[in-house]
Amino acid sequence: MITARGIKKQFGDLQVLKGIDLDIRQGEVVSIVGPSGAGKTTLLQILGTLDKPNAGEVSVNNIAIQQLSEKELSRFRNANIGFVFQFHQLLPEFNAVENIILPALIAGKNKAKSEEKARSLLAFLNLHDRETHKPAELSGGEKQRVAIARALINDPAVVFADEPTGSLDSQNQEELHKLFFKLRDEFKQTFVIVTHDLHLAHRSDREIKMKDGYIE
Ligand code: ADP
Repeated sequence: MITARGIKKQFGDLQVLKGIDLDIRQGEVVSIVGPSGAGKTTLLQILGTLDKPNAGEVSVNNIAIQQLSEKELSRFRNANIGFVFQFHQLLPEFNAVENIILPALIAGKNKAKSEEKARSLLAFLNLHDRETHKPAELSGGEKQRVAIARALINDPAVVFADEPTGSLDSQNQEELHKLFFKLRDEFKQTFVIVTHDLHLAHRSDREIKMKDGYIE
């Protein structure tokens, strides 16, 4: 699903990624762990096509990212990649369903069908009674599940998550862990997760340890 070869990235004089090779299969839940400053988020941003490496090649779903124009890349990203961040980044004035369907509307999909799909995703995530709630009316765990539904609305090849459990208490962390594995088991959903949550990392299909810009 994802292939990275020889990825290097520097910011000014700081060499943050020093040559990363990585393959991720469909249906894998992969965790990226390591100390702060190791380059985990930078790698996630590059694999997620939000940032470009200074050297090396990334392909997602058999598409070589560096060969796409900015416009093609933006369309490709919206259709193929879902993102979940530590803080849900839901739009406060929109309810759960309205937040979830945004990437589908950007992709030009039918609104009524997208709403129907958003409702079925909410049901799958045990949030069927939260469809018209706005973010301020949802708990932290519920907001994060809505953010996951939004990441899934376009049936992405892969979901990238940066510290998805970082703002949750242990019970909600546990619920989110179960959800990742349920989505993998039922839909072969691929997840790449940057996390300090070692419980989640140890339960993943693969744990990738980064240090000083390398994979250990
Ligand atoms: P991690 O996620 O492992 O904590 P990051 O990938 O966030 O590490 O950061 C790695 C290093 O790159 C850090 O020293 C950070 O300060 C630096 N860095 C990250 N993004 C930028 C940027 N946009 N500009 C300059 N330095 C950056």
